[in-house]
Amino acid sequence: MDQVGQVAGWLAEAGAVTVLTGAGISTESGIPDFRGPQGLWTRDPAAQRMFDIDAYVADPEVRRAAWRSRHGHPAWTAEPNAGHRALVELERSGRLRGLVTQNIDGLHQKAGSRSVIEIHGTLHEVECLSCGDRAPTPEVLRRLDEGEDDPACLRCGGILKTATISFGQALRRDVLAAAEAAARDAELFLAVGTSLSVHPAAGLAGAPLESGGRLVVVNAEPTPYDVVADAVLRDPIGEVLPALVGAALTSPPRPRPGPAGC
Ligand code: NAD
Repeated sequence: MDQVGQVAGWLAEAGAVTVLTGAGISTESGIPDFRGPQGLWTRDPAAQRMFDIDAYVADPEVRRAAWRSRHGHPAWTAEPNAGHRALVELERSGRLRGLVTQNIDGLHQKAGSRSVIEIHGTLHEVECLSCGDRAPTPEVLRRLDEGEDDPACLRCGGILKTATISFGQALRRDVLAAAEAAARDAELFLAVGTSLSVHPAAGLAGAPLESGGRLVVVNAEPTPYDVVADAVLRDPIGEVLPALVGAALTSPPRPRPGPAGC
């Protein structure tokens, strides 16, 4: 049996599937990843500075560049692709234990996924680094249109930033705990479109192995977890995810064990 067929069989059998997605699931929607061949940082390593919290706080020029980049971000007009839609079908089938995304683009929700753990936050809201006030990002982008280049918090005058996790910022504890629980409970864990190089998110891929689950990596390029994965699929995500989910949906979910005595 080929690898796709084998993984489709595991997906058909599994009652609890957790999926971790990364930037690679959104490249087919026109949003570049960071580290792939056409990635933002592959093409311009200096762009990494915009994602460093210390540089962002210390240097107004970094903030201006970050706001310009957010203003022109392809996520504002991007549409979900077949990979995102396949995960909506998986959720509707009742097999999905958790959908954890490192992405900030909101495309899983736009596709129709109802329960998404955004481990690195969201581009769609801004947060004040001083008072924590949050607002929809489009409201701040309108201020850029009106001529501001480093908009400050309207409540306290503090530094505003999209509600995303930059390097040097801690993940929200409750969000990380939910992601870890979903990873631990997974009979099958799919790591999709992620280089598995950003921790602690990448470490989630190791959790199912410790609790007896299977790990499948779906990524065009090698990841550090390929050697321990039960299968590695290099096919384009927009083709392979619909194929896997389509196969799984032809079989009913395996009944889960009930409480003792039932
Ligand atoms: P990454 O850039 O490190 O890795 C993406 C991986 O996806 C690469 O290994 C690449 O080979 C693979 N890939 C790209 N397109 C693919 C396709 N169509 N089929 C199969 N594989 C494909 O991304 P990461 O691991 O998610 O880490 C980067 C960080 O950057 C994350 O924290 C994420 O929040 C952020 N980010 C998010 C977005 C977004 O929201 N869309 C975009 C860029 C970066």
